[in-house]
Amino acid sequence: MNAPARIAVDTKKLNDALARFPRDRAMSIAGRAVGGDGEMIERSSPAHGVVVTRIPRGRAEDARAAIAAARLAFDNGPWPRETASNRARLLLKTADLIDRDRELIAILDTLESGKPLAQARGEIEGAADIWRYAASLARELSGESYANLGADRLGVVLREPIGVVSIITPWNFPFLIVSQKLPFALAAGCTCVVKPSEMTSASTLHLMNLLAEAGLPEGVCNVVTGYGPEVGAPLTADPEVDMISFTGSTRVGRAAVAAGAATLKKVSMELGGKNPQLIFPDADMDAALDAATFGAYFNAGECCNAGSRLLLHSSIADEFIEGLAARARSVKVGDPLDADTRVGAIITSDHLGKIEDHVTAAERDGAQVRAGGGRLESSGFFMAPTIVDKVTAAMAIARAEVFGPVVVTLSFDTREEAIALANATDYGLSASVWSRDVDTAIGVGRGVRAGTIWVNTFMDGTPELPFGGYRQSGVGRELGRNAVKDYTEEKTFHVHTGPRTSWWLPRGA
Ligand code: NDP
Repeated sequence: MNAPARIAVDTKKLNDALARFPRDRAMSIAGRAVGGDGEMIERSSPAHGVVVTRIPRGRAEDARAAIAAARLAFDNGPWPRETASNRARLLLKTADLIDRDRELIAILDTLESGKPLAQARGEIEGAADIWRYAASLARELSGESYANLGADRLGVVLREPIGVVSIITPWNFPFLIVSQKLPFALAAGCTCVVKPSEMTSASTLHLMNLLAEAGLPEGVCNVVTGYGPEVGAPLTADPEVDMISFTGSTRVGRAAVAAGAATLKKVSMELGGKNPQLIFPDADMDAALDAATFGAYFNAGECCNAGSRLLLHSSIADEFIEGLAARARSVKVGDPLDADTRVGAIITSDHLGKIEDHVTAAERDGAQVRAGGGRLESSGFFMAPTIVDKVTAAMAIARAEVFGPVVVTLSFDTREEAIALANATDYGLSASVWSRDVDTAIGVGRGVRAGTIWVNTFMDGTPELPFGGYRQSGVGRELGRNAVKDYTEEKTFHVHTGPRTSWWLPRGA
């Protein structure tokens, strides 16, 4: 089945979804609903072309007010001094409330981002699981003690919350990404200011309602909405902020690190990727084809973890590309509210244009489009699942993060060539290796410089395993057993007992 000539949307389903929530939202600062100066930003569904939400256009003074509220809640409020069991209880209650409101949160993310509703439901379910994992870590957080320093000395290392954390999130996984940060910061005892993308703020604002319902004290978590340069930038530069946790583009991540450097803030950065999927001739080809299709087109490729570079052993390259092209043509692109849609809409018209430009430039460079290649006719923004073949490592499309449903194919003959190709970008977020041979799978995986290596699978994730990138894919890791520790400082207690040897009197005096 080829992609339909025109993507149709179901107006009844859209109206049913819109009937479930009010259009207008407010920011949340110090426990109060704040409207800013009255100017609103409208968000239209990229699939349906109708306004679905309106949020206040926050300004720098709103960001400063939110930081001040978080500072006050940290310096004087109960949250940083709360017991771990009470913090964990609140996180668990929040997880239950997320489960209760799963359908609504999924609808908000779907309408604002264009992602398939069935997929969004899975993301919200996964997010609730992360809140529960953070609750378990809250109670495990502890420092160290040293009783081996001598009879008159004791060393104790405390873990204290780092302070006020700015959390800045993108539009591709609005609820999931804030859930990879916020519960761990709260588990540590930090207070926060969250700035979601202005295109996808509704589910984060709904989360604030759930936190209030769960009993989070005022000012512990604040949300400012608006544009990056207006409200995001102050969150990265303000001296009252202790840490920045950012997910988004490498370009803005770099600016956030630079802004935070003036006051030496701790940073956690989850940035871009150009992730290779390496397919060897002894792989299970059906499984590899299925995963390659999923890796390329999941979330319309708007995914830092997208498997956007397919590195194929030359002996299987032609056959594999034919199989992939057949799948690319049969993936269901369509209305995100349809149960069987796998690829929804692209976030904006501008972004769709940029994706097309990448493909056109690659063709100019000598690459060949084997499936898709451009937009689909629709009142929304849809792109056909695309394969760009005959790509070389020197071409721009082999290195740039396209962030759309576009996979490029390159080929190799030896393991060494495969590793060199895999490492031939500035990124290092993730990679997958497909081979039944343990030497190949492990040997190649160890050679690739990336934060996650999947072997014979793709994009599996679980809160127990750390996630983050090498090189320009980021700084630090999220999730995993250290996820709460990342939001703490160490404080050393050096205790002396009994008489202390004098510094200025001679020994024995
Ligand atoms: P950005 O990096 O621009 O946006 C991420 C977040 O940072 C948003 O909340 C944004 O706000 C905010 N922001 C923007 N400017 C500043 C600033 N000066 N200081 C602080 N915060 C700021 O990503 P885009 O949404 O523009 O996407 C562009 C590209 O980034 C994509 O094409 C893709 O390549 C990559 N990307 C990577 C993601 C990932 O998961 N690693 C996620 C999203 C994008 P606002 O939305 O208002 O600009």
